[in-house]
Amino acid sequence: MTQQQTAGGDVRLAGISKTYGSFTAVHPLDLTVPQGSFFALLGASGCGKTTTLRMIAGLEEATTGTVLLGEKDITDLPPYKRPVNTVFQSYALFPHLDITENVAFGLRRRGIKSVKKQVDEMLDLVQLGDFARRKPHQLSGGQQQRVAVARALINHPQVLLLDEPLGALDLKLRRQMQLELKRIQTEVGITFVHVTHDQEEAMTMADTVAVMNGGRVEQLGAPADLYENPRTTFVANFLGTSNLIEGEIVSTGSDLVVAAGGGRLTLPRERCPAPATSGGRLLLGIRPEKISLAHADDADTIAAGRNRVTGRITDSSFIGVSTQYVVESPAGTALQVYEQNIERDTRLVPGAEVVLHWNPAHTFGLDAAQDID
Ligand code: ATP
Repeated sequence: MTQQQTAGGDVRLAGISKTYGSFTAVHPLDLTVPQGSFFALLGASGCGKTTTLRMIAGLEEATTGTVLLGEKDITDLPPYKRPVNTVFQSYALFPHLDITENVAFGLRRRGIKSVKKQVDEMLDLVQLGDFARRKPHQLSGGQQQRVAVARALINHPQVLLLDEPLGALDLKLRRQMQLELKRIQTEVGITFVHVTHDQEEAMTMADTVAVMNGGRVEQLGAPADLYENPRTTFVANFLGTSNLIEGEIVSTGSDLVVAAGGGRLTLPRERCPAPATSGGRLLLGIRPEKISLAHADDADTIAAGRNRVTGRITDSSFIGVSTQYVVESPAGTALQVYEQNIERDTRLVPGAEVVLHWNPAHTFGLDAAQDID
């Protein structure tokens, strides 16, 4: 497969914003999307991700700021003059044209007559070589989506923008298409900017994820970094499930000791969000799958040095890959625990008195002033 032209450089948004009347959809935003990366804008409905994407495409005029592609300022270029193409959730294929002509459309519009070689290459890329003569209605949703991608790529854009392109697909097909889009991006090597509200989708596909909330980027990073080191409760809760426990710092040695959840919990200093002083308040976070459960009677078998919270199981659900427990601590905090590979007869039942325990290294700290008040 041919490697596409990768010239162009990073996409840089500098102070870009969008207001509609008195409403600010996107607050001034500085963001760099590295050339050749798979970049996701992730957030709940209405957070401004589509508006941001449309400002890169030129489909929405920015209220302030500039859009740069490499060194070139493209802020005032109309969409068709930008080396950028967009794939929308509605594939917008031409129903009366076959797949070949749908994919060839951009070339024909530029007056190129001999399209076969390029179309064949594109159809191979999206693995639809055998479907060239079909009409869109004779394809599945996933196949139609791949045609839309081929059609967007045939003009060799430097950046491909994808606006919830998998939104119309069922869950299983979505999962397949996520891997497929990732493969295509690796193969063509150009920059993909992908908008989604689905955290699993963003984490599966993207090298870098910008988590948006209320028209702002709340945190930017590699998926694993965001998951392991969320800096706000929004990010901690939007990417997976987090248990957040309010606490007070009682000592500040190489690690912090925090009174929380009815006990003393250890937080590695480098995972503490703010200057740590004794008496300071913060939130301790721990992911449900990082916690192990022991029956209270077996508490003395737990290795030394682990963080512990006692509690009582109030709910237990077996969901195939794991058993999910809700445990209420004496302080009234409900904590979620996901345990894998438990035999049916060793599962704990509601009412059981338990000790939750985990490696302190998995604990993260969040700024309580920002999040509790
Ligand atoms: P979704 O996932 O639902 O598409 P989004 O994060 O992509 O959401 P945007 O489409 O960027 O959100 O919209 C951001 C905010 O701007 C929303 O509150 C929306 O109602 C508002 N908005 C978008 N377009 C307009 C418009 N033309 N006029 C007024 N408000 C608008």
